[in-house]
Amino acid sequence: VIEIGTPERSVITTCAYCGVGCSFKAEMRGDEVVRMTPWKHGKANRGHSCVKGRFAYGYASHNDRILNPMIRDTIDQPWREVSWDEAIAFTATKLRGIQEQHGVRSIGGITSSRCTNEETYLVQKLIRAVFGNNNTDTCARVCHSPTGYGLGKAFGTSAGTQDFDSVEHTDVVIVIGANPTDGHPVFASRLKKRLRAGAKLIVIDPRRIDLVRSAHIEAAHHLPLRPGTNVAVLSSISHVIVTEGLYDEAFIRERCDWDEFADYAAFISDARHSPEATALLTGVPADAIREAARLFATGGNGAIYYGLGVTEHSQGSTTVMAIANLAMMTGNLGRPGVGVNPLRGQNNVQGACDMGSFPHELPGYRHVSDPAVRDVFDKLWGSKIDPEPGLRIPNMLDAAVDGTFKGLYVQGEDILQSDPDTKHVSAGLAAMDCVIVQDLFLNETANYAHVFLPGSTFLEKDGTFTNAERRINRVRKVMQPRNGYADWEITQLLANAMGAGWTYTHPSQVMDEIAATTPSFANVSYELLEERGSVQWPCNEAAPDGTPLMHIDGFARGRGRFIVTEYIATEEKTGPRFPLLLTTGRILSQYNVGAQTRRTENVVWHDQDVLEVHPQDAEVRGIKDGQWVRLASRTGETSLRATITDRVSPGVVYTTFHHPDTQANVITTDFSDWATNCPEYKVTAVQVAASNGP
Ligand code: SF4
Repeated sequence: VIEIGTPERSVITTCAYCGVGCSFKAEMRGDEVVRMTPWKHGKANRGHSCVKGRFAYGYASHNDRILNPMIRDTIDQPWREVSWDEAIAFTATKLRGIQEQHGVRSIGGITSSRCTNEETYLVQKLIRAVFGNNNTDTCARVCHSPTGYGLGKAFGTSAGTQDFDSVEHTDVVIVIGANPTDGHPVFASRLKKRLRAGAKLIVIDPRRIDLVRSAHIEAAHHLPLRPGTNVAVLSSISHVIVTEGLYDEAFIRERCDWDEFADYAAFISDARHSPEATALLTGVPADAIREAARLFATGGNGAIYYGLGVTEHSQGSTTVMAIANLAMMTGNLGRPGVGVNPLRGQNNVQGACDMGSFPHELPGYRHVSDPAVRDVFDKLWGSKIDPEPGLRIPNMLDAAVDGTFKGLYVQGEDILQSDPDTKHVSAGLAAMDCVIVQDLFLNETANYAHVFLPGSTFLEKDGTFTNAERRINRVRKVMQPRNGYADWEITQLLANAMGAGWTYTHPSQVMDEIAATTPSFANVSYELLEERGSVQWPCNEAAPDGTPLMHIDGFARGRGRFIVTEYIATEEKTGPRFPLLLTTGRILSQYNVGAQTRRTENVVWHDQDVLEVHPQDAEVRGIKDGQWVRLASRTGETSLRATITDRVSPGVVYTTFHHPDTQANVITTDFSDWATNCPEYKVTAVQVAASNGP
């Protein structure tokens, strides 16, 4: 039982955890939050919340928060607390010094999907207009960058096609590579409600996730594929639909290029995509593939929801395009109850991508090589934007090891803990002359930092987050920043110390600038958000009220594009030494690497990560339930306790990554998506052995 005092006032804001973007009432006494209650008018959550969001305030007042800036000349020195003025001057001098010695492109920065749209916009503006290069990337690199690439190619827009309400009109749902019950709980409740009302469910996942167990048994089809074989399974489903003539010819002729579809159909009809051939590759029975294909093609409105189990693969972008092919060939786009719906992991991963965080794209997904687009920003910013795309996060680290990249500004992201191949990340960070970490806590990356700038929580700032359904929600300041400044103000301090002359006094002015430069945000303003509560982009002259459903009359790119999606096996192979495949996921009560949830009441629900092992694999290794095991891959090793369960298939093990002790990324490889460099977190060949402890 948690004792709370009587609230004196309340402020409506948006949960800062997952991409559902639930609206909450932060109930206050003085300058303290005493309770978060879901707001009944919130359009994404309609009065519901999950256990994460309910307690999403405790970390703001946690004793671990760093509230004063700190600097040091080298990373082996102790930190020295300094004033904000000294910290900012030290940082600006360091960064300019590096550029004088090593060139304009020798520094860069990483934006955060946990920060607001306005903050993310300002960080990429700092890098482009003040640093003078495009070395900006975001944590979406390691989660949904393949979504941006794949959906952009197929439909012309790098975002999900539907709103959450759409699920109420769905007849058949494919959930692939996502576990909504744990990752997106409030949306999962709406999905389960629809399943209880009779919608059919197809789950494509190596693990028997909660949805399979909670759906009505006849309605749930589970395709337990071998990790890394998404494209093969999706291709086989498409093969059945095409060879059995179950595709929607009228939709394809009207909305797509028929000749392109004909080429795709010839490719996918080949016998190598047959369910029998696919069963050998993927472990999914041929009959299950056939049944799923027929059900999706003929069962009415079909919607596809997916998560990081799709994107975090060497074929992440290919898988997204295979999903788009499946939706187009079955005519499942452009009306309620259908569509392609990426379930975004972090609260503002959609917004961080929209705001131009990528090294090749300005806000609104426009390429930096386009002089007309650069001109829009140059006129407003007084800049001369570099026409060359910048470096992605892994390339920044490579360049650091090579000695050509020397300075990094990291806002709200712990790349040492969350990026793959920890040894490579630490080598890159250690090789830099100036690493600036702006965060709430001294995270793992801060071990390699020369400057620590205390960050602010979502409770201490105004701004907006954009959720998985493109909904722009207001974030409202409920308390003064305990560290002195909101994150956007800190970026402005740094920009001005480097000569920028920015004069923003409120994030609404940043949103006005976003609206002036970004066509899909043209009508968005804080006044509109106050009036409507929230809006979904595109929100412009053509769609003044926003756009709940996309691609109704035509695709953003004109005609939908069928792309040949050949399955190519990952280079990460099992063998006698590493015979099992490790895949990873989340648990309901925790959020990502746990930096926030471990500092709230949620900590009581999950005090350690465990390794799920199938009973057969446990038996041959003599592993007992609850016993410590040593988990090793080609890149590293760690220890966890085992849970024996048939939720995973034989040959597959599974863990979560919420606790730093787990060090899951010591294990993961440096293989990545061919198009976007999104790491292949979901497939690692491992060995597991009983051990006596960590
Ligand atoms: Fe909603 Fe996600 Fe926050 Fe839970 S974690 S309250 S589902 S936004």
